[in-house]
Amino acid sequence: MPEGDTVWNTAHVLHGALAGSVIRHSDFRVPALATVDLSGWRVRGCASRGKHLLLRFTGPEDGRAMTLHSHLRMDGAWRVYSTGETWRGRPAHLIRVVLRTLTTVAVGYHLHDLALVPTDKEETLVGHLGPDLLGSPDEPGGWDPAEAVRRLRAQPDRTLGEALLDQRNLAGIGNLYRAEILFLRGIHPTTTVADVEDLPAVADLAHRLLLANKGRWTQATTGSVRRGEEVYVYGRAGAPCRRCGTLIERDAVADRSTFWCPACQPLVSVKAKVAPADR
Ligand SMILES: [Zn+2]
Repeated sequence: MPEGDTVWNTAHVLHGALAGSVIRHSDFRVPALATVDLSGWRVRGCASRGKHLLLRFTGPEDGRAMTLHSHLRMDGAWRVYSTGETWRGRPAHLIRVVLRTLTTVAVGYHLHDLALVPTDKEETLVGHLGPDLLGSPDEPGGWDPAEAVRRLRAQPDRTLGEALLDQRNLAGIGNLYRAEILFLRGIHPTTTVADVEDLPAVADLAHRLLLANKGRWTQATTGSVRRGEEVYVYGRAGAPCRRCGTLIERDAVADRSTFWCPACQPLVSVKAKVAPADR
């Protein structure tokens, strides 16, 4: 599942393979970019912002800075091969772009929202995003827990399950982390933001989970990367909760399946929590 950590890893691989190199040949297989030719352009680097990838280039003559934006969504991927190596990634019909340097070929499969924009216009593509869970705090759009909480609080009637997937709040959370964050905080997915007692703790946990998975391709929230032990609830409908044995449930929240333990994550509202004697 390409979430913020996977996208960060992808940017890291592309940066290592291409930064500083000159593109010898480019091949865009999407109509909007079919006539683009990046040969002669030098790769400045690759960065991620939430789940968006930004591959930055400098022009051959005028030093013009351009950015190739891509998004992996559910199924996209970039693969890097040595020149002459067989491309083992995916079927050829899924290829959207091929970038060749002297030694390396970068192939983008099933990429979404491919766009080439001047680098100083990147914000038109990623400026709407909330603080990037893996972004450096001193960079534009980088991690800023207070801002993330402020954005969550701005829509108190939304369910937290929906708010966590909204990239305008925190950038980088996908379906796996949403389910795991809610489990670890003991929050039912349809609890409204207003009913969550400790939103800063939710934001902090999201940050720590993505950081823990940055730099590896296996996503784990349990502390174990052994197959079948990586997560608490995600993808485990009908299986016993690792903490209490209750069967994990599954339903759609914000149009995507989520998973929770009905015992560890009871649905409670602030009203219900006020005992009669306290009124
Ligand atoms: Zn449980």
